[in-house]
Amino acid sequence: MPQITLLSQDTIDKIAAGEVIERPCSVVKELVENAIDAGATAITVEIKEGGISFIRITDNGCGIEHSQVPIAFLRHSTSKIKKVEDLLCVKSLGFRGEALSSIAAISRVELITKTDSELTGTRYLIEGSKEVANEEVGAPDGTTFLVKDLFYNTPARRKFLKTPKTEGNYISDMLERLALSHPDISFKYINNNQTKLHTSGNGNVKDLIYHIYGRDITAALLPVSYKGEFFHLTGFIGKPIVTRGNRNYENYFINGRYIKSSLIAKSIEEAYKNFMMLHQYPFCVLYFEFPGELLDVNVHPTKMELRFGHNQEVYKELYETLFSVLSGREMIPQVPVDE
Ligand code: ADP
Ligand code: MG
Repeated sequence: MPQITLLSQDTIDKIAAGEVIERPCSVVKELVENAIDAGATAITVEIKEGGISFIRITDNGCGIEHSQVPIAFLRHSTSKIKKVEDLLCVKSLGFRGEALSSIAAISRVELITKTDSELTGTRYLIEGSKEVANEEVGAPDGTTFLVKDLFYNTPARRKFLKTPKTEGNYISDMLERLALSHPDISFKYINNNQTKLHTSGNGNVKDLIYHIYGRDITAALLPVSYKGEFFHLTGFIGKPIVTRGNRNYENYFINGRYIKSSLIAKSIEEAYKNFMMLHQYPFCVLYFEFPGELLDVNVHPTKMELRFGHNQEVYKELYETLFSVLSGREMIPQVPVDE
């Protein structure tokens, strides 16, 4: 008979970490989201070798108090919710308390952090879930995470990584989306000592689109502004002349969160259907605000999917909104009618 035994904590941690941290880009996403939740107005992301050997993320947010630092690295420890009902009104990007423990389980982490009420900061080292150092140091207010040697102790995972160039591209894409998701935060992204992105954080979405996508797309934007029963929507959609060959240019954010939703993608594409050639996809940067009770964000550990309370209505409202923007006077020249 096969023996049934409980897995060791180390094995449990590594398996659980795999759900949240799939590749270097997941580390960047989780740590940048933490910086956003910490109220940062400036976030710097530095990577080397596609993030496999080196990811450093610095923010000017609230910092973590010395006594709280080891707790932050425990699985399911969070300052963002206390009970499951809080999920209905969660405003933060994080809430599962899994990122730091997951990252620490499969890499070497150095954290330097200081809150504005402390005189000195904390330097904390943790490798493969084991605390290596915990000391006081001089530090500016805010937080820096340095994550080195991702998956050094999970060779199977490491093997599935793509080349540093490809992993770096995933991170670049993710950062562009994170920057678009929060136009009021200044993002700086440095890949192998080269600055690849530096946004102003002035809150202007059009400036940001220009910075990331360039002149052609910026010259062909239609503004969207809609307040409906189920959601509020602002942002820009591209005129049908700036279509693209894949869905990568469809950006939509829900309550500040970058997500993937086949419902939203289908509704957008349906609105464009008669304006575009087959197998072309639109450009858009859309910001949705949903009331918390109509949204379930707790669908998957990566929080990239969510559920809507009213699928049909959301689909229809979005379709009609975009269709009316697309069929406005800008698109179809109106023939003046004599009375
Ligand atoms: P979650 O984001 O779901 O709460 P994490 O494991 O990502 O879980 O982080 C655990 C806790 O550590 C957070 O709830 C927060 O209190 C703290 N924390 C993490 N990163 C930062 C940061 N950059 N600045 C301030 N606090 C942070
Ligand atoms: Mg988090």
